[in-house]
Amino acid sequence: MLYPGFDIELGADGKSIGNIWVYDVTNESAEGKTATPLVVIKNGDGPTALLLGGIHGDEYVGQLALTRLAQEIAANEINGRLIIVPAANVYASQSGTRLSPRDGKNMNGCFPGNADGSVTDKICNIIENVLIPECDFIVDLHSGGRSLEYVPAPLVPLSKDEALKGRSLDLAAAFGTEYIYVIEDVGQTTAAAAHRNNKPLIATELGGGELADPDAIDLAYSGTLKVLAKAGIIQGKEVSPSVPQQLAFGPNAFLRAPTDGVFLPKHKLGAIVHKGDVAGHLMWPHEPERLAHELVYPNDGILVCRRPINRVKKGDCILHLGIPTT
Ligand SMILES: [Zn+2]
Repeated sequence: MLYPGFDIELGADGKSIGNIWVYDVTNESAEGKTATPLVVIKNGDGPTALLLGGIHGDEYVGQLALTRLAQEIAANEINGRLIIVPAANVYASQSGTRLSPRDGKNMNGCFPGNADGSVTDKICNIIENVLIPECDFIVDLHSGGRSLEYVPAPLVPLSKDEALKGRSLDLAAAFGTEYIYVIEDVGQTTAAAAHRNNKPLIATELGGGELADPDAIDLAYSGTLKVLAKAGIIQGKEVSPSVPQQLAFGPNAFLRAPTDGVFLPKHKLGAIVHKGDVAGHLMWPHEPERLAHELVYPNDGILVCRRPINRVKKGDCILHLGIPTT
């Protein structure tokens, strides 16, 4: 069947490239619509994976990996179905912004969406109520975007349903990284949408910064293929036997700027640090008489995320830790 707004069938065999169209009337475009690109690759009766990129428009690692994957995977290479949305927040992707420039919304805070809401609400509604119900699991590729950079790893939202949690952790382990990030608060994210549909989901945090690192894109690509192999959709890709360490993002893992300034970090990403250790200094080059202000780590952990921009404003996330769960 053809869902309202879709110009391709989700159930068609072979590779289909089309769009999801939603009304998006603006001052410049009466009766206008927004087209969110969609690729469906189907062969046989194996499981369905929903692959999402560009929920945050400034995160190009996942968007580029999924564009490559949509172009390179042939239908006869899979048993099952791939539903690929490489640039879910399409206006944000086109403008290089985290939030949609159309309605100012953070797509990963808008689920379950609203069929009568703004353009971001409408796409969230379709992802939650059409695409997720069609799939067996979801891979939602994120990176840090312009203002954060991560040690690359998959991320699992911990469902209270033990079976669902176990399925998500199994898929994340297939990614083959040293760490898995785990979070408990899913807010109004894709993870909340997945939990409401009783579907396993893995997200990722694969690098970040203004320029998508080719190594991170390769990891997004190869990790996604390993997850697809684990699910039995694609053959011949090595599944990592490793048991990654779980790192939590708790409220005591974050260090935010206490005031405006220029941050000089002390450690590189991946460093093992302790509560009270010097994390870096805030400095004011335009006020040379003002002494540097020391900032310390808020907890024991691994420095998994850092702001790749020196200039900070009061309240900016400067860094955060991953705290081992065992
Ligand atoms: Zn993101």
